[in-house]
Amino acid sequence: MENCIFCKIVREEIPSKKVYEDADVFAFHDIHPAAPIHFMLVPKQHIDSLADVEDKHSSLLGKMMLLIPRLAKEEGCTDGFRTIINTGRVGGQEVYHLHVHIIGGTERLPVMIPHPK
Ligand code: AMP
Ligand code: ZN
Repeated sequence: MENCIFCKIVREEIPSKKVYEDADVFAFHDIHPAAPIHFMLVPKQHIDSLADVEDKHSSLLGKMMLLIPRLAKEEGCTDGFRTIINTGRVGGQEVYHLHVHIIGGTERLPVMIPHPK
């Protein structure tokens, strides 16, 4: 995808603070961190969003899920972390290249899904 900002980051055409890279995936710090640790894991191949994944992506998605706890620990998430995949308009997705936010630090993160009293 020529004009996709995350494809450009993957191709290293625009700079990022890289966390990890292999043949299939790329991880880098979010430019506007929401917590002391905040990075993103993306597939190198362009997929618009989680709403667009297909059976052929199953091993890639599995690989990403297995990698997340390892990278989170390496980045300093020693006592848990949060993963977020914003999807589509309702999900508030801003960049249409599938990405998993990995967020953490030392303090408990704010509750995202409040339970009814
Ligand atoms: P989302 O709302 O899930 O689509 O999140 C997009 C995220 O990409 C936001 O948290 C942005 O701060 C982040 N972002 C946008 N441009 C860049 C960039 N050039 N480098 C790193 N993160 C970026
Ligand atoms: Zn892309």
